[in-house]
Amino acid sequence: MGTWLEQSSAIWIAAVLALIFGAALQADPDQGGGAAPAQAPAPATQKPDPAGPVRDANGAVIGFTSMAEIPGTPWRIHDAARPHPRVITPGSTASAPPSDAIVLFDGKDLSKFAHSKGGQLLDAQWAVRDGYFEVVPKTGGIVSRDKFGDVQLHLEFAMPNPGRGASQDRGNSGVIFMGFYEIQVLDSFENLTYADGQAASIYGEYPPLVNAARKPGEWQTYDIVFEAPKFKGTTLVTPAYATVIWNGVLVHHRRALMGRTSATMTVHGYTPHDAELPFSLQDHSHPVRFRNIWVRRLTGYDQPE
Ligand code: MG
Repeated sequence: MGTWLEQSSAIWIAAVLALIFGAALQADPDQGGGAAPAQAPAPATQKPDPAGPVRDANGAVIGFTSMAEIPGTPWRIHDAARPHPRVITPGSTASAPPSDAIVLFDGKDLSKFAHSKGGQLLDAQWAVRDGYFEVVPKTGGIVSRDKFGDVQLHLEFAMPNPGRGASQDRGNSGVIFMGFYEIQVLDSFENLTYADGQAASIYGEYPPLVNAARKPGEWQTYDIVFEAPKFKGTTLVTPAYATVIWNGVLVHHRRALMGRTSATMTVHGYTPHDAELPFSLQDHSHPVRFRNIWVRRLTGYDQPE
């Protein structure tokens, strides 16, 4: 038993704590305070709001039902009914495919790619060895056998070492989304060429924000978010957008493409096409190497779990 003084102190501390926690429960649980609602304080006898906090089996508050609506969505703030994002397992590194990726090249074979010739898909003839594959010049580009619309793409590439040639004639290849929209692959380490044709350029439209090139022979990474253009009939509704991270460096931030990137004597523009199409890797007659290629199909918010 403590002394009267100790017991009295304990009562005061309990009272102060009750005040503090009582106030905290009135505030937004994740905002550390928040403004008081513009209404008269509820009488002490009022019953708990039946549309208030939702609790899990252990009593933890896991959402609410009566907060303000979020404009443009069917949800309220902290809505307990809002679907939770799917749980996936990230790769052990940022380069490793997460559990929901479609792995297109894992170092073993090119079965997920083909040469597209005369409307037929023929087995890819590029050379596979030691966990990578290499362009075999003059065999033609390869296309993914799967078709994609909006995607996150990871791939790694290495320039021929030692480097040979200059400007566009040095380590040239490309990632051509939907067969029309090229993110340039080139040896841009101490190799001058036109800015909108260097590595990581949106070819003929935008140079990368910076030149993050590694030396010939060193593995480099592209992480690209490509949003396919959307058409309604023959009308363009939204252009394609590209976000490109090159060797961990943001070089395009949701940049709207002007159109197909192959034209040089006419302004780039769009011609309607399917919502999903293969992407291709370009044969530009240089033995560029690739490895660790995977994609994720992009989905919208609030998908079923
Ligand atoms: Mg190219």
